[in-house]
Amino acid sequence: MKPAAFDYIVADSLEAAVAALAGAGGEAKIIAGGQSLVPMLNFRLLKPSVLVDINRIPGLAFIKESEKTIEVGALTRHHQIETSPVIAKHLPVLGCAMTHVAHLAIRNRGTIGGSLSHADPAAELPMLALLLDASLEIASASGRRTVAARDFFLAALTVDLNDGDIVTGITFPKLPAKTGWGFEEVARRSGDFALAAVAATLTLSGGAIAQARIAMTGVGPTPRRAGDAEALLTGKPLGPDLIEAVIKLVRAGVEPESDLHASADYRRHLAGALAGRAVAAAWRRAQGKTA
Ligand SMILES: Cc1cc2nc3c(=O)[nH]c(=O)nc-3n(C[C@H](O)[C@H](O)[C@H](O)COP(=O)(O)OP(=O)(O)OC[C@H]3O[C@@H](n4cnc5c(N)ncnc54)[C@H](O)[C@@H]3O)c2cc1C
Repeated sequence: MKPAAFDYIVADSLEAAVAALAGAGGEAKIIAGGQSLVPMLNFRLLKPSVLVDINRIPGLAFIKESEKTIEVGALTRHHQIETSPVIAKHLPVLGCAMTHVAHLAIRNRGTIGGSLSHADPAAELPMLALLLDASLEIASASGRRTVAARDFFLAALTVDLNDGDIVTGITFPKLPAKTGWGFEEVARRSGDFALAAVAATLTLSGGAIAQARIAMTGVGPTPRRAGDAEALLTGKPLGPDLIEAVIKLVRAGVEPESDLHASADYRRHLAGALAGRAVAAAWRRAQGKTA
């Protein structure tokens, strides 16, 4: 199918993009990489009267390191994140996750701002933003605001963005010292969306887990943290019994839905198994071993 007719505005500055969105009275859509939007236009699931192309806005594609954070511009392509030495050094779990996003051709166009704004229930980047306690910078005609990732994902394909809002960047706190990570995903084929995926970080202190973070995707309408399992891990060294307890808690805490790709029971089973593996890998890496 072909999309319904629309006007096309190429914005050459953030101000121009914000003005174009504000002028369209809620009838406009931003286009970034187009890898999720264009299929939706072609299937006529969306019929905006105006597309505002933000690709030529300077200064929105960058990876910037500061003392405690890594800031990533909204127009940064998935492949830039995947191959960035800064990401590999400070947020290796993010770099690893990117290799699971779609295929190289799609990763060359798709952007972090687009993926977070689109918020597919099985996407990797929303899960990573939640895992790493990231925050999103958002600009609109009425000013700028910052939203924590934990407050951003509201429902499937629904985020805390109003008509006229543009995500301009994402800020990730660097991982603390003595932190290991794990990332585990099951998809039907390489490049497909996850049936389920889990990412974890463990920060050690004195041989025990000082901070545990576990995030999941594909097991509900939005990415979610496994808060009960995180609390259980905190203050203890990891061993086989604790991993088993994490698996049980994760399975008890998710409510996936059945669809064409997998049953709810299978997704629940996967969530537990992947959480166990991700936590075990994070524990090994935190001790300087290979996963
Ligand atoms: C075959 C295929 C397989 C894929 N597999 C995966 C996968 O395994 N995992 C995965 O995570 N993704 C997957 N994707 C999606 C891909 O990662 C997209 O690149 C991403 O979801 C959207 O990014 P984009 O830049 O292309 O956004 P676009 O398609 O341009 O936009 C998506 C939505 O976000 C809005 N938007 C875009 N940028 C902004 C912004 N800066 N501020 C506010 N709103 C904005 C748009 O208006 C639109 O509603 C796949 C896509 C395809 C076609």
